[in-house]
Amino acid sequence: MMQTQLFINGEFLDNGDREMRPNINPATEEVISEFPMATAADVDAAVDAAFEAQKSWEKLPAIERAGYLNELADAILAKQETFARVTAEEMGKPFAQAMDEAGWLPAYIQFFAGLARHMKGEIIPSDRPNENIFMYKVPLGVCAGIMPWNFPLFLIGRKVAPALVAGNTVVIKASSDCPNGAYEFAKVVAESSLPKGVINVITGPGGVTGDALCANKKVAMISMTGSTEVGKKIMANAAQNVTKVSLELGGKAPVIVMNDCDLDATVDHVIASRIINTGQVCNAAERVYVQEGIASAFTQKVIEKMSAVTYGPALGGTFDMGPMVNKKQQEHVAELVQSAIDEGATIACGGHAATVDGKGYFFEPTVVTGCTHEMRIMREEIFGPVLPISTFKTLDEAIEKANDCDFGLTSSIYTTDYDTAMRALNEIKFGETYINREHFEAFQGFHAGMRMSGLGGDDGEHGLEEFLQTHVCYVDYDLKRNKQ
Ligand code: NAD
Repeated sequence: MMQTQLFINGEFLDNGDREMRPNINPATEEVISEFPMATAADVDAAVDAAFEAQKSWEKLPAIERAGYLNELADAILAKQETFARVTAEEMGKPFAQAMDEAGWLPAYIQFFAGLARHMKGEIIPSDRPNENIFMYKVPLGVCAGIMPWNFPLFLIGRKVAPALVAGNTVVIKASSDCPNGAYEFAKVVAESSLPKGVINVITGPGGVTGDALCANKKVAMISMTGSTEVGKKIMANAAQNVTKVSLELGGKAPVIVMNDCDLDATVDHVIASRIINTGQVCNAAERVYVQEGIASAFTQKVIEKMSAVTYGPALGGTFDMGPMVNKKQQEHVAELVQSAIDEGATIACGGHAATVDGKGYFFEPTVVTGCTHEMRIMREEIFGPVLPISTFKTLDEAIEKANDCDFGLTSSIYTTDYDTAMRALNEIKFGETYINREHFEAFQGFHAGMRMSGLGGDDGEHGLEEFLQTHVCYVDYDLKRNKQ
């Protein structure tokens, strides 16, 4: 049985008597490998290594740091297929989607390497004569990257690339559902010329490893992507040392479909925004509000297309969707679907947990109709291939329902009317809005949520700023006056 190892200070540690946990293929339910639970002492060793390495890392010119990042990107690209296979196997996403993700990781690293020459401070006019006020942008120190399982490769890029180019060092804690992708990344780091301790990669349960990481005083920032529930715990834990947090949490993206939309294109975009990654995406279309005049035609086409969505093992053929990542996630989706039935909604297609050849944590592509805004399925994150549909009369009503939500990450509207689109943009309160296109963000944007969807954000130049802090210096240069 393959065993992964902790990667600390440039070395893979012997697993010794550390507790080992199984990594399960969600399509076949087979154990793929085992991974070690980092103890609190391991966490401290990883943070110490990153802390020591940071002292010289921040002194390198940013363009030299970018050189190391580009070296990592090239090495990952050379192993793109390996990364994709590992992720398809442990996470369950179809191989083609895993290949895409394994390509985004190096591209994202290259994007941030390209920002090395764009970091700048400010010179601020002083109230005094002969004084300059300089605002430097300086690194934070050690950044902890706490990973989710849904994009286990791409998210390495989000945690590592901006942090490193800004002069920080990192300790990455992989998700217990996807330790192997992070292990492959650690192997690339180990084979590179990157100085020891700049990137450390550990595995272990949130409650032990994650807690120890968040409570460590030498950690200057915790960048976590995951559920709102865990985000709150991390925030509370970080409060002990007043550690900065950047939290990318859950979503409940509303989709507003107007009578005047391009019907066929809208249906295609909405389905794509629901089934990608088996619906396990923070920005996915989570609830649809369709205007009454087009509701019947839209719903019928959605049911037809959703019924044609295929699912199967990631490495066992070409399917639109793989399994859910684990049994818990499958049960969560089933429970929410049942709650909708109990509250009076109708299952128009799908609706059940499923297996393929008697195995796996699959879920049928599902459309739920007759939903009302108050139902749990319209208010709680589903994170699965289930599309609940509700209707509305006026744009005001749709925007009010869309905004009446604990989450505030992404949103979308489909209309061919310019006034409607602009009004929606001005009134909808979400971190991202997509007009007439599927939900999917760009490297150069800024992925940040309102309300319980998080704090801070990722991507683009604003994402880089998250990994920097200010140092303001007041310089009185009139030496003669100083001597008098
Ligand atoms: P999760 O919250 O269960 O786990 C996330 C990570 O936190 C894991 O590595 C876990 O081990 C760790 N963790 C758990 N308890 C901890 C603790 N007490 N201290 C420190 N770390 C702890 O999330 P998940 O199930 O892996 O991911 C799915 C969730 O992530 C969904 O809610 C989804 O919407 C969200 N997500 C958000 C974005 C975004 O950009 N906003 C992107 C992807 C996923």
